Amino acid sequence: MDTILVVNAGSSSVKFQVYSIEGEGTLRRQIKGQIDGIGSRPRLRAGGASNGPLVDRAYPIEAVPDVPAAMAVAGDWLRNELRVTPIAVGHRVVHGGPDYSRPVVIDHGVVCRLERFVSLAPLHQPHNLAPIRSLLAGFPTLLQVACFDTAFHRTHEAVADHYAIPHQLHAEGVRRYGFHGLSYEYIARTLPNVAPDIARGRVIVAHLGSGASMCALKDGRSVESTMGFTALDGLPMGTRPGQIDPGVVLYLISEKGMSATRVQDFLYRECGLKGLSGVSNDMRELEASTESHARLAIDYFVYRIGLSAGMLAAALQGLDAFVFTAGIGENSASIRARVAEQLGWLGVTLDADENARHSRLISQPGSRVPVYVVPTDEELMIARHTLAMLVNGPSLNTRSERVS
Ligand code: AMP
Repeated sequence: MDTILVVNAGSSSVKFQVYSIEGEGTLRRQIKGQIDGIGSRPRLRAGGASNGPLVDRAYPIEAVPDVPAAMAVAGDWLRNELRVTPIAVGHRVVHGGPDYSRPVVIDHGVVCRLERFVSLAPLHQPHNLAPIRSLLAGFPTLLQVACFDTAFHRTHEAVADHYAIPHQLHAEGVRRYGFHGLSYEYIARTLPNVAPDIARGRVIVAHLGSGASMCALKDGRSVESTMGFTALDGLPMGTRPGQIDPGVVLYLISEKGMSATRVQDFLYRECGLKGLSGVSNDMRELEASTESHARLAIDYFVYRIGLSAGMLAAALQGLDAFVFTAGIGENSASIRARVAEQLGWLGVTLDADENARHSRLISQPGSRVPVYVVPTDEELMIARHTLAMLVNGPSLNTRSERVS
């Protein structure tokens, strides 16, 4: 059985999935696993498509000190214990820079180019590239494909891609990239099946998870995003503040004496729902909490989604549908209900029963703007891109990519 391995590597974990390639190019998820606690308490866990856990194994810290070691442990387990030898590997890579507008087959030259974007995403890009490098070294003929979180947004007009700063900085790469692109691409490709009549229209997608952003889709293409240069901007998230006056950052530096590294840590790990509530970054815990600051954090989250919807509706010059996705969007009926209330003026009327049932269509039949819940699947999107490279060959898929 031919298989594709999908890898999503972060600083302390490597998540992986194995898909089998079935007749007519259908992909079926066979294994989902991860090694977490890299460099602290390494643990390999994985499950199969139906038959429960396949492995749950702790490792000594020196056996898995870093991401390449974690990749090796996962690879050995797949090969030696499950006899899985993938014919291609698809990687999630957060940053494709200004030029990659689609996935790319990886070689040493591509790795060098992607290393240039480390400064644009210092917390993610190095960890994304680590398993790519180790697989290139160990299995030089294995097809590897990089799939970018930024690529889907490269369709933005110049006016949506700029900040009002001197052009030289834009040329250097200081731009409004947008992220969560693999999630939005999955939703855009799924919408024609879910709601064919609106899939080509003006749609706002709210990806509400630990990371959260919103995207304006017109005819299935991204025209605007709440995220920009980094994944810090836009909506408040689990531990990130979302939109914030740059003056606050200046205050932290000049009045609080924070270094750049300290500010970075603060903005990525100590703000958002966690910072505002003082309770948790987890929406389930906030919803269960009776603390007034937990309520304020939820109020702020909902309020900012409403504000952003207005901004994106302006970018789209109207609205034909609204889609919820990701952990909170797919599972929290109460957040959806509160967001829908904010969207009333745009023409949304929620159906409380369908919403409570987590139905796919949760607005009333008469709602001028229909509201959908569509589970996202970024890993499947990566597997599809990787399969397309296998079937069509890299030249077809990369010919329009521009690389500086
Ligand atoms: P993700 O990053 O997409 O996995 O989403 C993680 C977020 O989804 C966390 O804030 C979780 O608390 C939230 N979440 C997951 N399930 C629920 C639920 N049933 N109700 C509220 N929030 C949820």
